Amino acid sequence: MALHQTDRGVAAPYDDVYAMPVSEHTLPKYRMPEAVSDPRAVYALIHDELALDGNAAQNLATFCTTWAEAEVHQLMDECLDKNMVDKDEYPQTADIESRCVHILADLWHSPQGASTMGCSTTGSSEAAMLGGLALKWRWRKRREAEGRPAGRPNLVCGPVQVCWEKFARYFDVELRQVPLEPDATGLRPHQLRDHVDENTIGVVAILGVTYTCDYEPVQEIAAELDAIQADTGLDVPVHVDAASGGFVAPFLHPGLEWDFRVPRVASINSSGHKYGMAPLGVGWAVWRSADLLPGDLVFRVSYLGGDMPTFALNFSRPGGEVVAQYYNLLRLGREGYRRIYRAASDSARWLGGEIAGMGPFTLLYDGRGALPAVSWTLTDPAGTGFTLYDLTEQLRLRGWQVPAYPLPPRRQETVVQRVLIRHGISHDKVELLAADVRAALARLRDGAGKPAPHQPGFHH
Ligand SMILES: *Cc1c(COP(=O)(O)O)cnc(C)c1O
Repeated sequence: MALHQTDRGVAAPYDDVYAMPVSEHTLPKYRMPEAVSDPRAVYALIHDELALDGNAAQNLATFCTTWAEAEVHQLMDECLDKNMVDKDEYPQTADIESRCVHILADLWHSPQGASTMGCSTTGSSEAAMLGGLALKWRWRKRREAEGRPAGRPNLVCGPVQVCWEKFARYFDVELRQVPLEPDATGLRPHQLRDHVDENTIGVVAILGVTYTCDYEPVQEIAAELDAIQADTGLDVPVHVDAASGGFVAPFLHPGLEWDFRVPRVASINSSGHKYGMAPLGVGWAVWRSADLLPGDLVFRVSYLGGDMPTFALNFSRPGGEVVAQYYNLLRLGREGYRRIYRAASDSARWLGGEIAGMGPFTLLYDGRGALPAVSWTLTDPAGTGFTLYDLTEQLRLRGWQVPAYPLPPRRQETVVQRVLIRHGISHDKVELLAADVRAALARLRDGAGKPAPHQPGFHH
């Protein structure tokens, strides 16, 4: 056999990636191809197709990491083969996960930071499921010990992210979503009394409401639950969904008591891949102290002759995101996180001022006191002549992704727009965005952003 003979579809070195068999046809979409193809050509084709996705650097809708240092890329590459669950094969990766848990427990003022329980997850959604399950187990155990029925648990919350609706549905818990009051951006403590009862497994307070980016007042929510306990005897724990706020508040608002400094806060979840600045695929769940995580939720896996507790919905899971989280915590330190979020927050406040000055908008959240973000609504939706959905479309012409969406029930007639400022979004980029919002407004006011009116004379 001649040595130069190659399989059909594998290029000789002088071939061009756009003139190979795989590049000259439509890519298979429903059936695996029979032939093997040249990796460079397949890479180029997939790379080119991905360019049709939105540009993540202009995605102001997401809370998630869209920029990372070269060292993070390098560690992610080196961890391609690390399976988080193989704690005996990769004991250092397991140890790094555990260090992150204790660092976060300490950052969030756990009274037992070095010994408490917690774990990494694929994101806040999985972490919320675990937090919710621990609440449900503890409530059920208490009810059973009291000899009372434990069949109809409920969870009380404000305008939560969809993960809590999933938790409630998947794990058979009634979700009591307290409707938003007029002008409110989240749950208000005085609303709780009408919703909690003996079947309430817990109250979820949100540090960084998805719709408006504001913080719910965790300390006041806990104080109201203290008052409810004094009056009724009901002892309702709080879980804080700090998906985005958990990595912002400790640096921008260190005096704000939202974490384990509030005795009623039993557990906290946060997304490492949001303001934690880790790549996509990592979240954290941390309990105030080890006794708050019911033992029968924790599975024991033998580990180097010892015993490794695991609490997770997944089994195999990549380790790179966890390692990259540790890198960020070490590399940036508190000072680094503080500097990055001060800069982001300054840009958000500047943008808030610009948006407020443009005329048609009313700010819902001006970038002060919570996430580095801004949200707004039209002051007079009926009289403005265009909608925020129209503005979203106009901004998209320049590549910006700025979502418009309705507020949750009771305020769903209010459509809002939201911009998140993260690591990698510079002040200059925010100024370019503001200029584009002004230009889009000018076009919408001229009617240029509207579809052409129906033209008579084109009937057939
Ligand atoms: C993003 C978010 C979630 C879900 O987090 P993932 O990490 O995307 O799973 C839950 N709650 C809040 C408040 C969020 O902002």
